[in-house]
Amino acid sequence: MIVATHRKGKQMAIELSSGRVFVVQLGMTGSLALESEPPRRGIETRHRHVRWDIEPPQPLPTARPATESRRRPSRGATSAQLVFRDPRRFGGIVAYRSMETLRDAWSLLGPDALTIEAPVLADRLRGSTRPVKAALLDQSTLAGVGNIYADESLHAARIHPLAAAGALEPAAVGRLAIEVRRILGHAVERGGSTLRDYRDAFGRPGDAVQVHRVYGRAGQPCLTCGATLLGTLLQARATVFCPICQDLSTFQNHKPTRSGRRVSTR
Ligand SMILES: [Zn+2]
Repeated sequence: MIVATHRKGKQMAIELSSGRVFVVQLGMTGSLALESEPPRRGIETRHRHVRWDIEPPQPLPTARPATESRRRPSRGATSAQLVFRDPRRFGGIVAYRSMETLRDAWSLLGPDALTIEAPVLADRLRGSTRPVKAALLDQSTLAGVGNIYADESLHAARIHPLAAAGALEPAAVGRLAIEVRRILGHAVERGGSTLRDYRDAFGRPGDAVQVHRVYGRAGQPCLTCGATLLGTLLQARATVFCPICQDLSTFQNHKPTRSGRRVSTR
């Protein structure tokens, strides 16, 4: 029986009454869905990698009651299943013996990005010569930022993804902490990003994809200044940035205006 759920960064944990804990990592294409009816043939029966029986079925709370009724277990149903699907297998499930062993594993993760404060972020980045985007993606530095939201946060904070993490001015780190919280919080509210066939637990696609300002937009105009967004690879991850808003050579001493003209702040 499931007694509690927990989350840190991008990992969520399902704690069972037996004491065991399963950590679900959605990766890019994984999903957890509550299902009260047998799957129809075809795509619904494929990629059902793990399922837990849940009895009796209880509708989970939702922020969007308008579509909830459609997903509620039908009258008379005697069981429901929590189903983990991962068509491309970037995610996975890891079993832990107890909450204690999970806490040990999670102690290696950095602070949670959803609540990161500037002084804590500055502390995590201090002394690092890595590109700031690499630091953001490193879950032991900060837990919860993936590729999309790293690009979006850095653009909103006007920081070049290749800038050395430890060389950021305090003001830049302050902007970054604010933008990471704002952009992740906004994405969580809207149900995440829809990459191909992502669905939330109630079968709804996320819609944060509609508000990406840089991710997936290399070659298109920056929505802030109109310059053409550039794409590059960082640690084999697609990285998109604006060469004006996020100017690597001058970002520490200058800041771009809305028109793209750089003004010294010294
Ligand atoms: Zn720009």
